[in-house]
Amino acid sequence: MAERVGKNLWRLDIPLVGNPLKNLNSYLLTGPRSLLIDTGFRQGPCRAAMERQLEEIGVDRDRLDIFLTHLHSDHTGLAPELIRPGCRVYIGRVDGARLTAPDQEGRWRTIFTEYVRDGFSPEEMERLWDTNPAKVAAPPPWDGYTFLEDGDVLTYGESRLRCVLTPGHTPGYLCLYDEESRRLFCGDHVLFHITPNICRWDGVEDSLGDYLRSLERVKSLEVTELLPAHRSETGDLCRRAEELAAHHARRIENAWETVRRRPGLTAYEIAGHMAWSIRCRSWEDFPLTQKFFAVGEALAHLDYLEARGRVERRERAGKWTYHALTGNTNIL
Ligand SMILES: [Zn+2]
Repeated sequence: MAERVGKNLWRLDIPLVGNPLKNLNSYLLTGPRSLLIDTGFRQGPCRAAMERQLEEIGVDRDRLDIFLTHLHSDHTGLAPELIRPGCRVYIGRVDGARLTAPDQEGRWRTIFTEYVRDGFSPEEMERLWDTNPAKVAAPPPWDGYTFLEDGDVLTYGESRLRCVLTPGHTPGYLCLYDEESRRLFCGDHVLFHITPNICRWDGVEDSLGDYLRSLERVKSLEVTELLPAHRSETGDLCRRAEELAAHHARRIENAWETVRRRPGLTAYEIAGHMAWSIRCRSWEDFPLTQKFFAVGEALAHLDYLEARGRVERRERAGKWTYHALTGNTNIL
């Protein structure tokens, strides 16, 4: 059910069935023209919950625009089918360019080939081809997006919403900041109870370094109301940003220790030695989709160490393996 969380602001609860994220919070700013922030997967349960709650609130669908914080399919999947003629779907330029790149199939094929080089078996990646929700519940090919840049302002009723570029979780991530009400729509940039997944992105040297800088950036904003995209918990922005930075500092150390003690492992094997909060007895028991995200996250931490000259990659029998560089002990 939609929950009113402000004068002209609603939180729509969109279930992510079978996904450990559990739900997506879509936010709706209502007025003469309304703005929906994030949409849910292109899947039946998301579609039904979204349609029902928009109906409950009674929003005029012909005057409803959509803002997408980032390209992930749990945020973007339904956008092209929800939008009516004459209305806009906004997304940051960098993420939007990735979403509309002509050869999506080829892009996924390249990612999957790279993951085999990072230690997955070809059979595991074949199984993921038809089951990874990041791929199968993504929006259909569509070129109607309106691209936004850092600092662009959207005005909806009394709300002036400024785009704040915060790369890391995705390369072109945008938060929306309402300075007047000190409200920040942070999407997945800051989450409570769970930590945002930070993975390697093609064409990005150090996504974790970018993310840590982006945490610093939002800490400089005056925020009294933080609106995250998953779960019902929220809280203090600065405190949570510091907790997230400390979490990654521990993970960086964890990855570094693993490489130092066990030289020559792939990212897949390193991920198997890192500590994860998922309830599984062993790495072998991880659901395959979760392994995919865990290896992506291990790679982001290894890229961070590599960018700082603490580890190096070597090729062995078609796989990338990691080695600690001696003489460097100050990892942060
Ligand atoms: Zn996301």
